[in-house]
Amino acid sequence: TEELAARDPEIFGAIEKELGRQRDEIELIASENIVSRAVMEAQGSVMTNKYAEGYPGRRYYGGCQFVDIAENLAIDRAKELFDCDFANVQPNSGSQANQGVYQALLQPGDTILGMSLDAGGHLTHGAKPNQSGKWFNAIQYGVRKQDNQLDYDQVEALAKQHAPKLIIAGGSAIPRQIDFARMREIADMVGAWLHVDMAHFAGLVAAGEHPSPFPYADVATTTTHKTLRGPRGGMILTNDEEIAKKVNSAIFPGIQGGPLMHVIAAKAVAFGEALRPDFKQYARDVVANAQAMGDQLMKGGLDLVTGGTDTHVLLVDLRPKGVKGNATEKALGRAHITCNKNGVPFDPEKPTITSGVRLGSPAGTTRGFGEPEFRQIADWIIEVVDGLAANGEDGNGAVEEKVKAEVAGMCAKFPLYPGL
Ligand code: PLP
Repeated sequence: TEELAARDPEIFGAIEKELGRQRDEIELIASENIVSRAVMEAQGSVMTNKYAEGYPGRRYYGGCQFVDIAENLAIDRAKELFDCDFANVQPNSGSQANQGVYQALLQPGDTILGMSLDAGGHLTHGAKPNQSGKWFNAIQYGVRKQDNQLDYDQVEALAKQHAPKLIIAGGSAIPRQIDFARMREIADMVGAWLHVDMAHFAGLVAAGEHPSPFPYADVATTTTHKTLRGPRGGMILTNDEEIAKKVNSAIFPGIQGGPLMHVIAAKAVAFGEALRPDFKQYARDVVANAQAMGDQLMKGGLDLVTGGTDTHVLLVDLRPKGVKGNATEKALGRAHITCNKNGVPFDPEKPTITSGVRLGSPAGTTRGFGEPEFRQIADWIIEVVDGLAANGEDGNGAVEEKVKAEVAGMCAKFPLYPGL
């Protein structure tokens, strides 16, 4: 038999365990979501076998007529979702989408201006260990000390001082909406391109629940697997014909070879889902649920960076309880609540320790949790954190066990992938 269980019991076992973990635990990682069976089916399809270097209608391989259908649908649906003229759906990841933009618009040594990692930016926006920080003269902006909001005045001052060719807006731990108009103004002052990386909030944009980067951005990138709820991957969008041509050449043959056609098919399915009316309700719920969880966490004595959220992301400052991000991630994990430690702006702790955790509502919302569930989750988080505060890194085992049992009860009420 060729069935996975018989062919490779070790991998089959790992997948079964991962399914169990997703079923039995509460997923609060802000960059994760739960895709539909249809998305998984497309991604697990025979399109995985096909080489299709090039673009629909102009491939370097024969036999591409059916994968072309998938890629054209992905492109058309992406353009409709984001109301723009061009989409490249081939980037294998969000990082490669960004790398594609840099390859399209920049030369090694050029100056770029992006948000620093420790303020909430992404590695690919010019962080030192990343290629973007090594191959370019990467200048980094941050947030204002007084309110932890994006420091537009600093962006303007740095732009005037360094004359970047590209300014990047977006990040991985930014709870608030970005003022794209202001970023455009700054880019225009210095003749820079504006690149919006909407990886985190793209699903909210698609649903009309968050301002669109267009018409302000020259080019936008996104991942397809976060709030957008598709397969893991990336995408590049623009309304500029010249940039579009450069982007296509940058992705192939610039930085990638054969596109992952099974993933592109799954992207098309996810974009089709996002065009449906129920996706709008999902996006509204994502924001309302994050806000409810945030409100309840503050009632329990925790701080939120910027005092709340406009999106799906909460950046929790644990310092009022005197506990660390790494210990909190572990303790919540023992109680079957999954999240990641995250630095807060101006964090005195090392990145391996941190004073915060990042929480998000997309996966729970997809699963069906509403505001009462997210308030309950916040109460559990407070209980576990209070256990850490009272007992040190080992936490309160009895409380963690009790929460774990209650988490199991909630998860059982919202079955994940029934029948799988
Ligand atoms: N850009 C932003 C803002 C992100 O948050 C991420 C995800 O971590 C990426 C890019 C990179 O995406 P990927 O992990 O698919 O490379």
